[in-house]
Amino acid sequence: MNFLDQDIKFCTGVGAKRADTLFKELEIATIGDILRHYPYRYIDRSKFYTIQEIYNDNTYVQIKGRIVHWKKTGEGRKQRLTALFSDGKHTIELVFFQGIKFILEKYKLGVEYVVFGKPTRFNRTLNIVHPEMELATTFSSNQLSGLQPFYHTTDRMKKAYLNTKAIQKIIAPIVKTLRNNSLQETLPREILEKYHLINLTESLINIHFPENTEKLNQARIRLKFEELFYIQLNIFKQIDWRDKHFKGFVFSQIGNVFNTFYHNYLPFDLTNAQKRVLKEIRADLKSGRQMNRLLQGDVGSGKTVVALLSMLMAIDNQYQTCLMAPTEILATQHFETIANLLKEMHLSVALLTGSTKQKERKEIHKQLEEGTLNIIIGTHALLEDTVKFHNLGLVVIDEQHRFGVAQRSKLWGKNTQVPHIMVMTATPIPRTLAMTLYGDLDVSVIDELPPGRKPIETYHYFDTKRNALLGFMAKQIRQGRQIYVVYPLIQESEKLDYQNLESGYAYLKEFFTDMEIGIVHGKMKADEKEKNMQKFVSGETKILVATTVIEVGVNVPNASVMVIESAERFGLSQLHQLRGRVGRGANQSYCILLTNYQLSKESRQRMEIMTRTNNGFEIAEADLKLRGPGDFEGTQQSGLPFQLRIADLSKDTQLLTIARDEAQNIIQTDPQMQQRNHKVLQQQLQKMKKNKINWSAIS
Ligand code: ADP
Ligand code: MG
Repeated sequence: MNFLDQDIKFCTGVGAKRADTLFKELEIATIGDILRHYPYRYIDRSKFYTIQEIYNDNTYVQIKGRIVHWKKTGEGRKQRLTALFSDGKHTIELVFFQGIKFILEKYKLGVEYVVFGKPTRFNRTLNIVHPEMELATTFSSNQLSGLQPFYHTTDRMKKAYLNTKAIQKIIAPIVKTLRNNSLQETLPREILEKYHLINLTESLINIHFPENTEKLNQARIRLKFEELFYIQLNIFKQIDWRDKHFKGFVFSQIGNVFNTFYHNYLPFDLTNAQKRVLKEIRADLKSGRQMNRLLQGDVGSGKTVVALLSMLMAIDNQYQTCLMAPTEILATQHFETIANLLKEMHLSVALLTGSTKQKERKEIHKQLEEGTLNIIIGTHALLEDTVKFHNLGLVVIDEQHRFGVAQRSKLWGKNTQVPHIMVMTATPIPRTLAMTLYGDLDVSVIDELPPGRKPIETYHYFDTKRNALLGFMAKQIRQGRQIYVVYPLIQESEKLDYQNLESGYAYLKEFFTDMEIGIVHGKMKADEKEKNMQKFVSGETKILVATTVIEVGVNVPNASVMVIESAERFGLSQLHQLRGRVGRGANQSYCILLTNYQLSKESRQRMEIMTRTNNGFEIAEADLKLRGPGDFEGTQQSGLPFQLRIADLSKDTQLLTIARDEAQNIIQTDPQMQQRNHKVLQQQLQKMKKNKINWSAIS
């Protein structure tokens, strides 16, 4: 059997029980798996600190010294053991809460130890809780190199004593074997040579036990490249498969419907960005290739009309078309906008949502099946099995990240031939993420706002200024404007959040005694929410207190102020989305970010970015840098289909670009990967498929 496929159970220091834990916690079943469980950081264990040097509360330190004194305090569960540890000049406390008896037996006064751990300051004295300790004499002979790897473990693993040290001990003999036995290379030799990448065996050895920092860097680059390369290879393989298996409807003409609307009823000139994007879409629709396009555009950039014009192209070619939105409010708004724009045209447009009445619903179903209905706009209701089309040619999906992939493919399934797909999103996605997450979609970007928009002015105030803010709000209302006040509800169940929302609402009611104030949140009944929302849309209420339920898509052009409470608790993308609810009309709009006085460095940076720029892409890039891709909003909701083990989409842009080019090149020249030097690629892809990476979630 292949070395990498060997069961981890039989490795030194593992056994059935630990193997079970490793599998349950980290899905590590084989030697290959554990070798791919890379350390997340390294600590230089060749460096010793003197106690005097320790000032930083966060980093790990290593000290050589002796225990000069033991002290036992507390009783029962409160028991603790403190060792006064001296490096000859100064002292630090080592604190133990568990295994006290064992520790007292094992470690002796006056013997030299190497102590390793994270110092914290407690009542002015420095201490290290549960440090690692090793006899100084054995320490030096045990160290393979100065750089010690640290591995992710889970709480369960720690309880089973599978800590980072234990993992290191399991991996050490495996790596030793690698030193004498090379693994099969997983990247084509041309690529290794072209980019001076080190081979797989050497990379794996050095990622776990780096010879030095130089070698570690080489290993990291090689492994990152490999990871990104295979993701891209898979994406291009899928595109290739799709192109060969799905024929696209050919929308050969731009006809009467499009032209009549464009020349007579379009209420404004398109921006250059809108025109450019329409051309890209047009080219797809007549190409014979099935379109899979992601339309990105900041809030207010005018995606709806681009979608509508594309839909008219479908109608001109005798196809039906549908627009799907994630919420009823949004679907209704789209319906109203589109029905209004098309009111002079002889087209049939209908709205289908969860609350469409049975009788009307039946009629819509019938018309869809007969083909007399041109445009259907709706929510998930469109996905029901009873909804059948005569000939669906184009599907537009708004705010895609709220739709699961399975749902999308359900919609394709409604045709014998897969329709063209356009996915619209206002969540700007950084390039690296788009290339990875939506790598198989072609991307169009509307990077220009319609003319005449006044940029939203954004201010950051501390809570203490809330009173002054009330005066400003009153003035805006006197001028006829409307205002959103948004509270964070990270967890709909969090009691405290509701208290904040409710007391904020009461506070506003006390101040604005002469008007009704609306409120919407996730715990309300749908119809009540709808009613309150509608009152704000119609202008009946001037202030709407809300949770993030209003985040997506709602369009009230008369609203000019967005107040965001506890703004430090929102992510950048979310703040930007919320801000996008204002600035939709002709009036100057404002976004007020209220925060606590005490802010973390990262929160301060977020506020600073928000007040500095309105550019969604700039914000998205900053968000990715601040938080890393795992937490990137939008991907969190759709769930990254795979976890990157080593590459970092916020930093490895260049590697990703190269990996993408090389992968594309291979699929173009050898789509089946049949050339001798490409066989290994095929094998690797197979293996990844087996490892349950949910590739289908990418498309
Ligand atoms: P989003 O991209 O956020 O979905 P919308 O499609 O809702 O943006 O457009 C925002 C507003 O801008 C709408 O009121 C729309 O009518 C208007 N709009 C769109 N394109 C233009 C344009 N080229 N010129 C002027 N106004 C436009
Ligand atoms: Mg929109």
